[in-house]
Amino acid sequence: MQKFDVIIIGAGAAGLLAAIQLKKEAQQAACALLEKATRPGRKLLATGGGRCNIANRNAGPAYYYTAAGENTDFVAPVFAAYPVADDLAFFAELGLLTKEEEDGKLYPLGDQAAAVLDVLRLQAAAVGAELYTETEVTAIRPGFILSTTRGDIAARAVILAMGGVASPQLGSAGDFAALLRPLGHRATKIYPALTQLKCPSQLPKALQGVKFTGRAAIYKEETELAAAAGEILFAAYGLSGPPILQLSRLAAAAYPAAPAEPLTVRLDLLPQFSLDAVRAELAARRNLPFTLADMLSGLLNKRLGQQLLRLITDKKLAAPAASLDDYEIERLARQIKALTLPVSGVCGWREAQVMAGGLALEQFDPATLASRLLPGLFAAGEVLDICGACGGYNLSWAWSSGRLAAHAAALYLKEGRHA
Ligand SMILES: Cc1cc2nc3c(=O)[nH]c(=O)nc-3n(C[C@H](O)[C@H](O)[C@H](O)COP(=O)(O)OP(=O)(O)OC[C@H]3O[C@@H](n4cnc5c(N)ncnc54)[C@H](O)[C@@H]3O)c2cc1C
Repeated sequence: MQKFDVIIIGAGAAGLLAAIQLKKEAQQAACALLEKATRPGRKLLATGGGRCNIANRNAGPAYYYTAAGENTDFVAPVFAAYPVADDLAFFAELGLLTKEEEDGKLYPLGDQAAAVLDVLRLQAAAVGAELYTETEVTAIRPGFILSTTRGDIAARAVILAMGGVASPQLGSAGDFAALLRPLGHRATKIYPALTQLKCPSQLPKALQGVKFTGRAAIYKEETELAAAAGEILFAAYGLSGPPILQLSRLAAAAYPAAPAEPLTVRLDLLPQFSLDAVRAELAARRNLPFTLADMLSGLLNKRLGQQLLRLITDKKLAAPAASLDDYEIERLARQIKALTLPVSGVCGWREAQVMAGGLALEQFDPATLASRLLPGLFAAGEVLDICGACGGYNLSWAWSSGRLAAHAAALYLKEGRHA
C-alpha cells in the first residue's frame, strides 16, 4: 500500500495552496494531492468570468455566513494567521502579481484565471507534492487508510479540501457528507448560493439582456432583509448580476419550501436620485418634445423605460409625453425607485458559484482547522460550513484556510499532536 505523511483530498484552490504551504514548512514530508477529475483546479479557470477575482482586501467575519445565514467569527483566527495581504505576498513569490479594483476586489495583473492555476500547479509540482488525478477518495478510515479508485492509500494526516457541490459540471460532487459521516462528522443543510433569482413575471422576459446600474433589495412583506448595489441584468428567468448573486443566499435559504410570506425584490433604477428628484425630472420631461416611447431615453435604458411606461399607463407609446397626468408621473417615479418583482426561488446548483452550508463548524478548531474528533484530520475551503459574499471572498477563504490547515498539519507531523 502506498504511504504518505499527508494526503490532501481535492486539488482545487484550497488543496493546491495547502500542498505548497505544507512542503514549504515540512520539506521532507511525503505529500499527495488526490483529485478525482482528470486535471486539477478546473473550477479556478471559470472564476471571475475567466479573470479570477482572486481575493478581497476586506476579507473578515462580516463577509462570511453559515448555513443558518449568520455571520461567523470562525473565520477570524484563519485570517489573523493568514491575512489577505500575506496571501498576495505568497502569490507574488510564486510569480503572480495582482491589482485592486472597486470594493477591495483583487485580480491577477494579467486578468487571466489560467495564470492562477498555472502558478499553483507548477509550484506544487516543483516543491514535490505528488498529484494523482482521476483518483477519487471513496472512504476514510481512522488511522488513516483512504479507499480510492486506485486502491487503498495510507497517511499520517489528511486535509479535506474537496470543495462543495456548486457547479457540478466543473467537477464538484455531493460526496463530502457521506465520506465524513462514518467518522462522526456532521454536515449542515446545504443550498446553492451566489446564484441568480427566479422572478415569475413577464417583465424580466421582456427586458432580457437589458442591464442597469442600480440597487436591489430583498423584501419579506414590507421589511427590507438585505440590499446590494451594482450592475443588474434582466434575464428570461429573472435577474442576475453581482448584487443579485449577493442577495441570492437569502432567497435560497427561504426556498424551495414555499415560505408563508413570499419574498420580493425591489429595484431602484436610479439610486443616485431621491424620489422627489425623480418626480421633478419626469415632470420636466413632459415639457420636452418627446413621445412616451422616448420620454425616458437619456435617463434609463430605452427598452426599460418603455416597459415602465406600459406598467403605469394604457396610453400608446406614440402619445406625447405631455399627455401623462400627475397621477401617472407619480406612479412612474415610484416604479423607477421601487420596481417590485416576485421571487419564486433561485437558479440551481449548476448556476451556483458556491455552496452554503458544509461540515459543521463546531467539530473543527478554528485556530488550526483540525477535527475535534479525529487527531490528524484537517479541513479547508468550501467543504466547511462557510459561505463568502460575492467579490473574491470565497477564494480568499480557500487560500487562507488551505494555508492554515497545512501549517497545522506540518506541526502535527513534527509533534504528533495538535498545536
Ligand atoms: C463559475 C464560478 C465562478 C467563481 N468565481 C469566483 C471568483 O471570481 N472569486 C471567488 O472568490 N470565488 C469564485 N467562485 C467560488 C470559488 O471558485 C470556490 O469557492 C473555490 O474554488 C473553493 O475552493 P475549494 O478548494 O474549497 O474547492 P474546489 O475548488 O471546488 O476544489 C475541490 C476539488 O476537490 C475535488 N474532489 C471532490 N471530491 C473529491 C473526492 N472524493 N476525491 C478526490 N477529489 C475530490 C474536486 O474535483 C475539486 O477539484 C466561483 C465559482 C464558480 C463555480
